[in-house]
Amino acid sequence: MLKRARRLRCPVCGEGEPFPDGLKIAERCDVCAFGFEREPGYFLGAMVINYGVIGVIALALLGVMAVGLRWSLWVIVPALMVFGLVGVPAFYRYSRGIWLAMDLAADPAEAKDFR
Ligand SMILES: [Zn+2]
Repeated sequence: MLKRARRLRCPVCGEGEPFPDGLKIAERCDVCAFGFEREPGYFLGAMVINYGVIGVIALALLGVMAVGLRWSLWVIVPALMVFGLVGVPAFYRYSRGIWLAMDLAADPAEAKDFR
């Protein structure tokens, strides 16, 4: 399922596209009819994954820029702000795919998830 998340495919069938229109997730898979939002507020966990991954990468970049490259804070802070502004939306779809894969591993799809 994580491979399917990496390829931005439906976590159940591996064929459908959850994001046919860019950043907006489809209501259902166009191949297997799996409903991507399994309950209200379902993708809150994806936001945690998104900000967590981007935060860890930003901390690593901070370490490289401050300790390794010895850049000034006047350069590091704007660079990390730009990274955050670009990185969060760029990783958004993948974080939802990872969240779906993790959730389906813990709570497999049932008949009520398909209509
Ligand atoms: Zn599907």
